[in-house]
Amino acid sequence: MSRIAFIGLGNMGGPMAANLLKAGHTLHVFDLAADAIAQAVSHGATATNTAIEAVQAAEVVISMLPASRHVEGLYLGEGGLLPHIPDGALVIDCSTIAPASAQKVAKAANARGLAMIDAPVSGGTAGATAGTLTFIVGGDGDALERARPVLANMGKNIFHVGASGAGQVAKLCNNMALGVIMAVTGEAIALGVAHGLDPGVLSQMMAVSTSRSWATEVCNPWPGVLDNAPASRGYTGGFGNDLMLKDLGLAAEAAMGVGASIPLGELARNLYAMNSQAGNGGLDFSSVVKLVAKGS
Ligand code: NAD
Repeated sequence: MSRIAFIGLGNMGGPMAANLLKAGHTLHVFDLAADAIAQAVSHGATATNTAIEAVQAAEVVISMLPASRHVEGLYLGEGGLLPHIPDGALVIDCSTIAPASAQKVAKAANARGLAMIDAPVSGGTAGATAGTLTFIVGGDGDALERARPVLANMGKNIFHVGASGAGQVAKLCNNMALGVIMAVTGEAIALGVAHGLDPGVLSQMMAVSTSRSWATEVCNPWPGVLDNAPASRGYTGGFGNDLMLKDLGLAAEAAMGVGASIPLGELARNLYAMNSQAGNGGLDFSSVVKLVAKGS
């Protein structure tokens, strides 16, 4: 069992930390939100007042923050964590951030003699709670082997997709497809409902037909279709619209970097931007259906 510092206890980090505690690891945790820390403490974690205090004696440091600027801010620069992490510790960033940002932080960690991998996740809050996440890893193979037992306590699939930053590229590919699929699934259900169909029956049919996806089966965007989906609790919890918007922006940047065409990804980015402008940025990204659902 390891002594782990866990920074960022939000919708994903909270349940991931809880699973590490369940597996028997010792956790020192930090978040900017006091209630997030209190939640982790209720599962057996030790609270700290700063991120620096959390990493003081860590063997493994895990971060799960919103975006590139938070991760760079945490590790780099004045007041950053890197000088404070014990020699020989392993650093795992599970946030979804720009590939170049992941490379920049890993390079600085390596220069300090610390191994670091990017290990963004897929599986949503349900996967984080169930401990069934998919980890998409970029970085050195030896570092991944050291991380594997800890990752296995939070997920069931681990893919090593390449060198530092590659985990982020692969994650952006996944989320670009997810963003498009969610938007069109909402559109399809809204069309059926406008014709008088029952959204539940329509979704059940789609879930065993050729348009089946995570959006129909697990995170259905129509309220009341699936009890456990964010749509059925006012689109709260889950994966924020503005986090999806961030990921589609990162995908667009990644596409421009290599001259790739992502017409549907760009269209989806605009839809999530419109949903954000409509005041739904903090809601689950499946709320994008509100743009097309009559009366919503
Ligand atoms: P969230 O907003 O719920 O949680 C982020 C947490 O980080 C918050 O509790 C916030 O207070 C904390 N935080 C921010 N800056 C901090 C700092 N400097 N020090 C300490 N704590 C800080 O976000 P989330 O949904 O948990 O997502 C986290 C990351 O995981 C994002 O990069 C997101 O894109 C990715 N992701 C989310 C999901 C999902 O379904 N929610 C799925 C896969 C990947």
